[in-house]
Amino acid sequence: MLKRKPMRRADFLKLLSLAGVSYSSPAFSQGQVPIQPGECEVNPAFINSGPGFGNRVALTFDDGPSPGVTDRVLTELSKRSLRATFFLIGAKVDASPQLARRIVDEGHDVANHTYTHPRLSGMSDSAVEQQLIRTQDAIARATGVTPVWFRPPYGAFRREQGSIASKLGLGVAYWSVDPKDWSQPGSSTITKRVLSASQPGSIILLHDLHSQTADAVPAIFDGLIERTFTAAPFHSFVGNPYT
Ligand SMILES: [Zn+2]
Repeated sequence: MLKRKPMRRADFLKLLSLAGVSYSSPAFSQGQVPIQPGECEVNPAFINSGPGFGNRVALTFDDGPSPGVTDRVLTELSKRSLRATFFLIGAKVDASPQLARRIVDEGHDVANHTYTHPRLSGMSDSAVEQQLIRTQDAIARATGVTPVWFRPPYGAFRREQGSIASKLGLGVAYWSVDPKDWSQPGSSTITKRVLSASQPGSIILLHDLHSQTADAVPAIFDGLIERTFTAAPFHSFVGNPYT
């Protein structure tokens, strides 16, 4: 356990360098999951990858639920019995509660991606807290599930803001594979970027926001399966940040 500590701290420091940086592409090495409550006095649970053993990756989808896109992603996941994690925007959950419910009904994890998708790094603690609480409430209302993971929009989150998340029982989840699908580079480019970068333990960042991503997911899912990856939802991949 002690042997792993320096590695985890190094990963943690890399994550900190993200704070305040807009949509950059963090290309971290795959390391151990830095989940040790209380290990870092400032921030107990920032992660950017999962366990490197086994051949598992996490498929994560941000910025939904989006009618017309999320449904298509869900259908493709279901066809292949794959499980994913959806980082939901609270206001969009309130607008499409049934779609949020469908995500949970079909066996996927739901997580917090703020209420209105602001850049949190420049906001006051109370404003950040409100963003997180409103989203926890919206997701719980729509799905019956209270998230335990949170992802800051744009990856913009300051080190000292971690305590706001931990107070609410939320771990902070970044990613290790970023195909930049939000910039709509074309579905085959999205697919190639994901498949070339994925390795055991990867957290793959996608967005159920634009149709290009929905167009890309059949080939992404089939490609991962062909490479013998298993897609694991967060609860079985990285677990609960504080238990
Ligand atoms: Zn987002």
